Amino acid sequence: MPAIVVHGGAGTIRKEERIPKVIEGVKEAVLAGWRELKKGSALDAVEEAVKVLEDNPLFNAGTGSVLTLDGRVEMDAAIMRGKTLEAGAVAGIWGVKNPISVARKVMEKTDHVLLSGEGAVKFARLMGFEEYNPVTDERLKQWEELRKKLLEKGEVKHWKKLNELIKEYPEVLRSTVGAVAFDGDEIVAGTSTGGVFLKTFGRVGDTPIIGGGTYANEVAGASCTGLGEVAVKLALAKSATDFVRLGMDAGAASEAAISLATRYFGKDTMGIIMVDSRGNVGFARNTKHMSHAFMRDGMDEPVAGV
Ligand code: ASP
Repeated sequence: MPAIVVHGGAGTIRKEERIPKVIEGVKEAVLAGWRELKKGSALDAVEEAVKVLEDNPLFNAGTGSVLTLDGRVEMDAAIMRGKTLEAGAVAGIWGVKNPISVARKVMEKTDHVLLSGEGAVKFARLMGFEEYNPVTDERLKQWEELRKKLLEKGEVKHWKKLNELIKEYPEVLRSTVGAVAFDGDEIVAGTSTGGVFLKTFGRVGDTPIIGGGTYANEVAGASCTGLGEVAVKLALAKSATDFVRLGMDAGAASEAAISLATRYFGKDTMGIIMVDSRGNVGFARNTKHMSHAFMRDGMDEPVAGV
């Protein structure tokens, strides 16, 4: 019973006119993943779906990644195979087009799980990933505008209160991407992000933390989006798969995971997508929006929403 679900980030989509474009983007990604899934590999399906989202500048991953407080791109990504618990991730990587593919190489070519910063960039070059600038003009403009709001007499006011920042400026949280797929044999989960706008240099979110923002085992897989620190503290992606192990399906487990996030950290913090080993799809959020799309056996076209 193959199934795939993708997300394009939890948060608030402020401009109504963006919604159809975002929906188009997640649909395109889920269809690209579905084509790979039909050939039999959840791993290829997740990588392909995430790559399509990374290449779409609307989303905050790969091309179109948001910028740190000091105006740099530091991207995080992870991929995990549910059957063998193999996992690969990169944190704070720059200068590559598709961080999810570098994460896959970490999983396949090294004994490690997570490479960060300069080491991750060096590894990517060794693996043949070419230099690429993911900064778009739109993000640069947004960075300049947001940064101005935070500056008081040339000093950054809010510099470490990310959750307060999000309440005041919901647009700092936007458009991380992820995919979870089941090919009838294995579940795979992947997530990719530029992080949170104006994040402190060096900050690593939940996305590349195995068990935090990304997790898969033989019962389920999960990809989280939202305020990364929340997912890390709750080991949310792993907790969500535990709910499936204890008897819930992917839908109920997604709801339970988000209730947990709301109970501890309040609303406007988290979203999640899941697939379980019976091919059930789940998604939930406590934010206003989370673009998502899914395909399961028997469906002719994807179901998508925000
Ligand atoms: N979870 C991501 C992070 O904290 C951001 C997001 O999902 O939008 O880096």
